[in-house]
Amino acid sequence: MIKNKILILSPHTDDAELGCGGAIAKFVEEKKDILWYAFSTAEDSLPQGCHKDTLRNEFIDVCNQLKLNENHYIIDNYAVRKLPNYRQEILEKLVSVKNDFKPDLVIGPSLNDFHQDHQVIANEMVRAFKSSSSIISYELPWNHIDFSTQMFIPCKKEHILKKLEILSCYKSQVEKQREYFSKDFILGLAKTRGIQINSKFAEAFEVIRWIE
Ligand SMILES: [Zn+2]
Repeated sequence: MIKNKILILSPHTDDAELGCGGAIAKFVEEKKDILWYAFSTAEDSLPQGCHKDTLRNEFIDVCNQLKLNENHYIIDNYAVRKLPNYRQEILEKLVSVKNDFKPDLVIGPSLNDFHQDHQVIANEMVRAFKSSSSIISYELPWNHIDFSTQMFIPCKKEHILKKLEILSCYKSQVEKQREYFSKDFILGLAKTRGIQINSKFAEAFEVIRWIE
């Protein structure tokens, strides 16, 4: 993959780590130019007693761990589950990112994702980037009925260990004992996707558009 300017879209601050944390670790290792846009810090989904900045701070911890400074991420503060109310505004922000950053690859949620916030980001991603960038979607199996494993990014064990490490920054989510944050699940899915392409580990993606 000869893509160097990579825009990563997270409807909520943990989505891209879950969907493609191994690939992100690999991009960092390969010194790709990354811009990571998180749209909601899901203040209303936090466990009781958590400060409202918790997920924002946890996301910044992730970026710090990956040595991505503030030039490499944007954190917006849309309310969780309310992104459909801001479609046009989100489109305009994505168009402005397109003009400023000029990504050659955009990675975001699947058009087959059933979460309403993920749907908005997936749709506006296509509208904003369809004629300028390659676009692929990461896998969040609990949100899909259909997911086409059209493209794979092979990962080494250290990329998947890094994925586990950055996910452990989300203490507020780990505390909720979400199974998709578990080591077993992360390693199991990466191994499953790896087996499909004769690699030790991998992450799978849908291809929405590919421009060489
Ligand atoms: Zn999400």
